Amino acid sequence: MLWLLGAGDTLLAMPTPDSDLFDKVVNLCKRRGFVYPSAEIYGGFRSTYDYGPLGSLMLRNVKDAWWRSMVQLRDDVVGLDASILSPPQVWEASGHLANFTDPLVDCTNCKTRHRQDNLDDPDTCPSCGKPGTFTEARAFNLMFRTQAGPVEGAGADVYLRPETAQGMFINFKNIINTTRKKPPFGIAQIGKSFRNEITPGNFVFRTREFEQMELEFFVPPDDADQWYEYWLNERRNWYLDLGIPEDMLMMRPHAEDELSHYSSATADVEFMFPWGWGELEGIANRGDFDLKQHSEHANEKLEFFDQATNERYVPHVIEPAAGATRSMLAFLMAAYDEEVVNDETRAVLRLHAKLAPYKVAVLPLSKKDTLRPLAREVLASLQPHFMTEYDETQAIGRRYRRQDEIGTPLCVTVDFESLEDNAVTIRDRDSMEQVRIPVSDVVDHVRGALAL
Ligand code: ATP
Repeated sequence: MLWLLGAGDTLLAMPTPDSDLFDKVVNLCKRRGFVYPSAEIYGGFRSTYDYGPLGSLMLRNVKDAWWRSMVQLRDDVVGLDASILSPPQVWEASGHLANFTDPLVDCTNCKTRHRQDNLDDPDTCPSCGKPGTFTEARAFNLMFRTQAGPVEGAGADVYLRPETAQGMFINFKNIINTTRKKPPFGIAQIGKSFRNEITPGNFVFRTREFEQMELEFFVPPDDADQWYEYWLNERRNWYLDLGIPEDMLMMRPHAEDELSHYSSATADVEFMFPWGWGELEGIANRGDFDLKQHSEHANEKLEFFDQATNERYVPHVIEPAAGATRSMLAFLMAAYDEEVVNDETRAVLRLHAKLAPYKVAVLPLSKKDTLRPLAREVLASLQPHFMTEYDETQAIGRRYRRQDEIGTPLCVTVDFESLEDNAVTIRDRDSMEQVRIPVSDVVDHVRGALAL
């Protein structure tokens, strides 16, 4: 099967990256209010981004879709919202203080800095093209360190979390004691993480501040392999169900020499970005490493006592760790499409209805006061159920184009006939087909058409 490649297999018959697509999506994001460069009025702050009116809605939809599938629809996963600031002990136990580093080289000629492991040619600077100009590689810790409290100096160091996962491990005991969960069960969390990336870039693909969606799934040790396979499958289907085409998604198992020392198996979910394959999510069989580390460092027993069998054990962990902001970029890239309609190019975001910022737009045919009361009545009937936009400026054709470009699945048009027949026209984003529906049926029709 194409999607599951063995470690080291070469890729054949894969789609070619489309570099135009990158510029088109980045441009759309800025122009329509999905993503803005941060602090732009001050010249921008490198590699940080603000999610605008549409982007904040879409990012929320990505996170909601994940939460729904990972928490709401299951009875074996509970949620958590742990703190972002944490003391050094957590990161000492997790291994991040010692090991969360990238090898860094500086070019003595053009003064640029690079990740050694990302260089095509380890001896040649990709910025100035000169060979033999690199310094010795230095280990650069990716964690952001700051100070807590009013006194500067040793003892007050705290870290911004570089992943959400440790919150789940250090709360394992709390959750076992306060819920009725027992292995197999999981703890899910969505939240911001921070990494002082040396080479951020490719828009929101790699940023220093980003959002993660992570699950730690605790299982009896003997069942770990089976649960690992289960989560590979679940997670792959999540992306496919939300509209990523099969040929743009790949499961890439890590080769032996890529695995962390504690992991018996890891696979990345990769997406065909315009620049090539890139990771959306890592799924790892982490064994008992994390609970054992924290147990040792905190001097706390982090284990499960199974009353049925009278057995005490440290559960093994399967971790699907995804990026919310990175996935949003993938969903945008996969959804972007252009087609020629009546000699004009129509740009359309064919987003899954669950991810679309607005589900429906209400568009009175003209700005005339006569249409407004009915149009606003339709708007008010939709708003409690769906994120709805109201737009009465410009010609109707241009308003349709705008809604197509931001991915709104349905447009409801109120025209002069509506005042006579109390009916409206509903237009489908993808097929552009229109149907006439009584105003009283609009909510039901939209619900049925969106199949949320
Ligand atoms: P990469 O190899 O791309 O640096 P990673 O393997 O270090 O990623 P993980 O630690 O497995 O990433 O984090 C899980 C997910 O979090 C990644 O698959 C990605 O979607 C997201 N993520 C990690 N780092 C970043 C970042 N700097 N910007 C945006 N998303 C990120």
